[in-house]
Amino acid sequence: MAQDYYKILGVDRKASQDEIKASYRKLVKQYHPDLHPNDAEAAAKFKEINEANEVLSDPKKRQQYDFELDNPGASQGFGGFGGGGASGFEGFGDIFSDIFGGFGGSSRRESKQKGEDITIEVELSFLDAAKGCNKTVKYNRREPCSSCKGTGAKDGTKFTTCSRCKGTGKIQRVVGGGLFRMVNETVCPDCGGTGRNITEKCDVCGGKGYNVSSTTFSFDVPAGADTNSYIVKRGMGHASTRGGETGDLIVVFKVTSHKIFKRKDFDLYVELPISYMTACLGGKVKVPTLDNAVDIDIPEGTQSGRVITVRGKGIKSRRGTGNLYVTVTVETPSKLSRTQKDLLKKLEAESDVRQTAKMADYKKNVESLYGVDPYEK
Ligand SMILES: [Zn+2]
Ligand SMILES: [Zn+2]
Repeated sequence: MAQDYYKILGVDRKASQDEIKASYRKLVKQYHPDLHPNDAEAAAKFKEINEANEVLSDPKKRQQYDFELDNPGASQGFGGFGGGGASGFEGFGDIFSDIFGGFGGSSRRESKQKGEDITIEVELSFLDAAKGCNKTVKYNRREPCSSCKGTGAKDGTKFTTCSRCKGTGKIQRVVGGGLFRMVNETVCPDCGGTGRNITEKCDVCGGKGYNVSSTTFSFDVPAGADTNSYIVKRGMGHASTRGGETGDLIVVFKVTSHKIFKRKDFDLYVELPISYMTACLGGKVKVPTLDNAVDIDIPEGTQSGRVITVRGKGIKSRRGTGNLYVTVTVETPSKLSRTQKDLLKKLEAESDVRQTAKMADYKKNVESLYGVDPYEK
């Protein structure tokens, strides 16, 4: 992480959006270029402040940034990019480059020189994603040639600096006239943007500067990874064909569903069917968590649909711990023995609608409307 955006804006990690906004406004006034003409330092500071604000004022970008702060080395993305994944990666790529643009990475012009990124989709089981795991991916990449250090020139030395672009790989042209002159940059046609002219080609890569090779990459998937969250490993993508930096490897997760658990962020949801008798009398029932099965108490007189919260039994991630929410459903048996039916008939004879508030209300309302008892046999 090159920049600490919180430090730049002078706010705390837990700062609210209002605090961020207030601090940003104050700093923008202080460092505005109008107040500091010809002051490069103030201009740089002003740019930094805007960059920091762009990320921290956007909850989605801020979440991503926070995760990167907590997971140095591999940047990690969380969030609903691409709308559930059905849309594939086309839209995703745009959002992606936006994020890195915003994070002060390579600019768009430089990225033309950079090697291509490689995106790999990895399927995670529900439990692996919830608890965290280690994964290995195997893929082919254009790796910078070690023999010529990616230059394409024999021993990495048999080249001359391009005289046309003086090694920059770019040619500048002034376009337009009068007030509307613009400097236009294009790739140097003599050296193809590498800034070098090879006098003797590398025998290993034949002058390309890269070799295609099979690569494996092992990485930790942090607990709480979700569908469309991703990690970025810098420099593990394709080598540049124009002498720029190597692209990145982007591993995007797809999390499969589970028979028992559902999740939203770090919270887990379980549906618990119980018998009518347990609903009436109360009792203990076992409910699975991520690690084991725990007893939960069903209180006497539990209604169907009641949600019981088991605190701290959701996903434990570095960014927080979720809860387990157990939704109780009262099941009506459809197969009854004669004895069971007889017992229920006896119970029914003993029952009174006033035992439940909803039934008592319903009876009262129907009676006041039409003067009939809706439960009368
Ligand atoms: Zn050149
Ligand atoms: Zn080579």
